[in-house]
Amino acid sequence: EVSFFWFRRDLRLEDNIGLFHALKSKYPVIPLFIFDDTILDSLPKNDARVSFIHESLSKINTQLREIGSSLLIKKGKTIDVWQSLLEEFDVAAVFFNKDYEPYAIQRDRAICEVLKANNTISSSFKDQVIFEEKEITKADGLPYTVYTPFKNKWLEKYKSMAPVKEYDATDMFTNFYKSNFALPTLEHIGFEESPIKVKPHNLKFIANYQDIRDFPALDQTSYLSPHLRFGTVSTRKLVNWAFHKNDVFLSELIWREFFMQILFSFPKVVTQNFKAAYDGIQWRNNEEDFKRWCSGTTGYPMVDAGMRQLNETGYMHNRVRMVVASFLCKHLLIQWQWGEAYFAQKLLDYELSANVGNWQWAAGTGCDAAPYFRVFNPEIQQKKFDEKGIYIRKWISEFDLGYGKPMVEHAMARDRAIATYKAGILK
Ligand code: FAD
Repeated sequence: EVSFFWFRRDLRLEDNIGLFHALKSKYPVIPLFIFDDTILDSLPKNDARVSFIHESLSKINTQLREIGSSLLIKKGKTIDVWQSLLEEFDVAAVFFNKDYEPYAIQRDRAICEVLKANNTISSSFKDQVIFEEKEITKADGLPYTVYTPFKNKWLEKYKSMAPVKEYDATDMFTNFYKSNFALPTLEHIGFEESPIKVKPHNLKFIANYQDIRDFPALDQTSYLSPHLRFGTVSTRKLVNWAFHKNDVFLSELIWREFFMQILFSFPKVVTQNFKAAYDGIQWRNNEEDFKRWCSGTTGYPMVDAGMRQLNETGYMHNRVRMVVASFLCKHLLIQWQWGEAYFAQKLLDYELSANVGNWQWAAGTGCDAAPYFRVFNPEIQQKKFDEKGIYIRKWISEFDLGYGKPMVEHAMARDRAIATYKAGILK
């Protein structure tokens, strides 16, 4: 008899709670990863995130090889893969960490049914957040929809237990199943290496984070986002560390959990406005305008630099993400779902909860969102946050003082946005 630990968005051996419990159980543990066709089929063959997953799995496999074990990697529809694993092995138990996205919840439920029918025990754990699901709620048990009280409650609860327990399983690594499974190449799974790479994370700036985080030319943010997305760092370790380092930085990590609990409690936000009153807004949704936004040719340097950074690197600085998102929804009156979908294709750190949450924030349709009458002026944003044009020049090689002609004039677009929102919002 064996047990399985199923890696998903927790691609590390270190402080991995589901893995810890698997190794503690009495069966030898086969570490498994499934390249899920349902997710992969819609991605381009050189998707950078698939390359990153493959690279992270290779690292885990190297660590496992040193102790006489190896990763078992499968590809297919997860349900089919599990059915054949149950035929191939005598599987007593399966361990995995929870994933709170609607698709994942549904997938895991279906797989647990299959396991149950086979008399296989399944156990799932909270790993990607400090507090999940309904752990942080208002006094009446309902979810928070405003960030600050959520954060206060989160901090109060965290402080009562800080530091949260970490799960070092090194002592139990001998419980991995002895194996020599072959690691498929990217080509084997139908993909190819991407020229775009995930950067290592960087935490050197942390003492001054609050002063420098908003200036894209300084490029001093942590680059943790893809690592948090794929679990190549542990949220517990990071939060225990950040708690003593910088409140503003910690607060960003709490925003991450806020949007995760919003997605969990209100899964409709994936496609629909959180505020239903905004459903009546008449978006212009002009396809030519959308193309100019995507390609970074709007004539507004800050917007164009951001979109080019995204297209070339799979990353965009947070301040600039806010500017381009506001520009799309307000200046061009294109519904946030279009921008969200474009970011989802391009971002290395694409995270459903954060992407939808932030897009709805920018559009004004979300919980605790920017008020609809607040329309970022891209030129003022540039003056404030990239005064010398260093960021802009980095991404727009042809930039000079006479750069382009804005595709829409700011004052007109601002008035149009406010009037359109006002007319569309149901009282
Ligand atoms: P740092 O400033 O070093 O922040 C540290 C960590 O805090 C981040 O890695 C992230 O996990 C978390 N964080 C920071 N800001 C936010 C935020 N506003 N919301 C939620 N978590 C946050 N972030 C994603 O991880 N995935 C997305 O798909 C995503 N889409 C976004 C779309 C828009 C329109 C906007 C405005 C923001 C989006 N963000 C998203 C949030 C933010 O821009 C990125 O998390 C950040 O830029 C990542 O860089 P960093 O790790 O260097 O950030």
